[in-house]
Amino acid sequence: MRRKAWILLLALLLSLAACDAPHHQWTFLAMDTVVSVDLQGGLRGVEALEAVGERMAVLDAQLDRFTAVSEIARINHAAGEAVPISEELRGWLTEIQAFSAASDGALDVTLGKLSDLWDFGAAKPKMPDPSEVQARLQAKRGLEITDKGVRVGADAALDLGAVGKGIACDEIARILQEKGTKRAVVSIGGSILLWGADTFRVGIRTPDGAAGESFATLQLTGGGAQFVSTSGRYERGFDLNGMRYHHILDPQTGAPVQNGLVSVTVIAPTGWQADALSTACFVLGIHKSRALLSNNHAAAVFVDEQQRVFVLGEVSMDITDARFVRTEATP
Ligand code: ADP
Ligand code: MG
Repeated sequence: MRRKAWILLLALLLSLAACDAPHHQWTFLAMDTVVSVDLQGGLRGVEALEAVGERMAVLDAQLDRFTAVSEIARINHAAGEAVPISEELRGWLTEIQAFSAASDGALDVTLGKLSDLWDFGAAKPKMPDPSEVQARLQAKRGLEITDKGVRVGADAALDLGAVGKGIACDEIARILQEKGTKRAVVSIGGSILLWGADTFRVGIRTPDGAAGESFATLQLTGGGAQFVSTSGRYERGFDLNGMRYHHILDPQTGAPVQNGLVSVTVIAPTGWQADALSTACFVLGIHKSRALLSNNHAAAVFVDEQQRVFVLGEVSMDITDARFVRTEATP
């Protein structure tokens, strides 16, 4: 189904290429979300788009834990045994493991079975049994990377949902470099790549607002690649008895993070860092995020339930919705 849609879109683009259109746009589904690519690069732009589509398909086949044959699914189904993996995946997992330790475990890619238990995407979501949550939390989950391959605890499942879209942004940046693309804006769900020596204005989504609605505009200047990623509790979850139960889990409790934050937007030097940081900083809260952000040369915009906006690091931003108030983050 997905593949068919891609082929149709590709055919349309190839016909556009015949006119050597300077702007190329493509919207498609991958990584369980909407991918939109807008680039300027003449005929090589079409080549770049094609390469992006192919790369996204390969990434899905590597990282999607729900695709039976993906590398991640193979690790998850190996019942605690080490599975040989590609050098690429080994590289990503090694970086993620180090990041996870530096975040004091706030980023934890072994929570797959807990996410399954909460089943945030269910048509009729319900609270999981607390003893079941505890059992999955206490299970030996550790990720081990050795010469033989990668293993995860027999009762755990790897889930790269918090970093996959950022990794994809990095891979796309590599393609744009190779194809000599002049300017591009790529968004994969809440992860964005801005490419080119230009000034970009990027809206930060209004938490709980309509799709496309933003409360602030970031201004990003610089050359090469810039990466922005947002994690929000509005993204996936359910409301029950006046509480919001959402898809970002606190690895200490196995339950959705309840710290008053509604979204965290991060600007970082690479896509995977922006994505990993947006999730980790959401878990850590403003105060504990400071060191992690500065060690990663990143900046962040936090929004809380009272529509207060806190900034850590250097960010050029205009708040365009008067309901949101910039507030000093106390050290
Ligand atoms: P989104 O996927 O909406 O862009 P994030 O990047 O914040 O948002 O990733 C959230 C996803 O990461 C969840 O849907 C889940 O698959 C996974 N996840 C949830 N909590 C954590 C956590 N503490 N550490 C790592 N991954 C997590
Ligand atoms: Mg993330």
